[in-house]
Amino acid sequence: MAYKEVLRQAWCGLHRFVLPLRCLLCGAAGANGIDLCADCAAELPRNHSCCARCALPLATPAVLCGECQRHAPPWDAAWTPFRYGWPLDRLESRYKFGHDLAAGRALSTLWQREPCPLDLPSMLLTVPLHRSRLRQRGYNQALELARPLARELGVALRHDALRRLRPTEAQTELGAVDRRRNVRGAFALRPGIVLPAHVAILDDVMTTGATLAECVRVLKRSGVARVDAWALARAPQPR
Ligand SMILES: [Zn+2]
Ligand SMILES: [Zn+2]
Repeated sequence: MAYKEVLRQAWCGLHRFVLPLRCLLCGAAGANGIDLCADCAAELPRNHSCCARCALPLATPAVLCGECQRHAPPWDAAWTPFRYGWPLDRLESRYKFGHDLAAGRALSTLWQREPCPLDLPSMLLTVPLHRSRLRQRGYNQALELARPLARELGVALRHDALRRLRPTEAQTELGAVDRRRNVRGAFALRPGIVLPAHVAILDDVMTTGATLAECVRVLKRSGVARVDAWALARAPQPR
């Protein structure tokens, strides 16, 4: 595993040396050490005005969104620096469904450059894919985002703390209630694993938060005192 990581980093370094930076969205020259031009990078929607608890994008700043006032999510804090909208959605779908790892690297670099929470966790965990999905895709999109972020923040990373017990239907087509049902009981903590008192669980995109919430419940049931939910981008609530 470590050997593969060394090779991967060597290839990334070589790639940078040989090929000039090029904007993945418009083809112009890349800027600021990233495969995006300054104009396209500036268009990526930041999630500045959002619910303090679940990071739901809000038109006007509010402490809590309506949903959190009724029923707060199980995590203690959320960090989702971007909104899932144009043109970030295009990069994300190329990364997640089109095997475009350059788009993933750009997204990861963008995330590393956002101001991080003051109260960092002692360990970062990633939402696992079921082995059948991992075989099909070839990589876990959450883990590839988490690796450089954990390194940058100096936080330990564990990708194998949680296991996905069964393949779940893709959440994309499902409404909020079905999403919760779809992931209920889908995760378990790997036996014998010891976790610190404060961890964060990371996914690529948070939509209703059903997947992250289910992971948080498993972690809290196993005795972790504080669990934060991190995602690159937060989608607006599906109807
Ligand atoms: Zn561009
Ligand atoms: Zn909320």
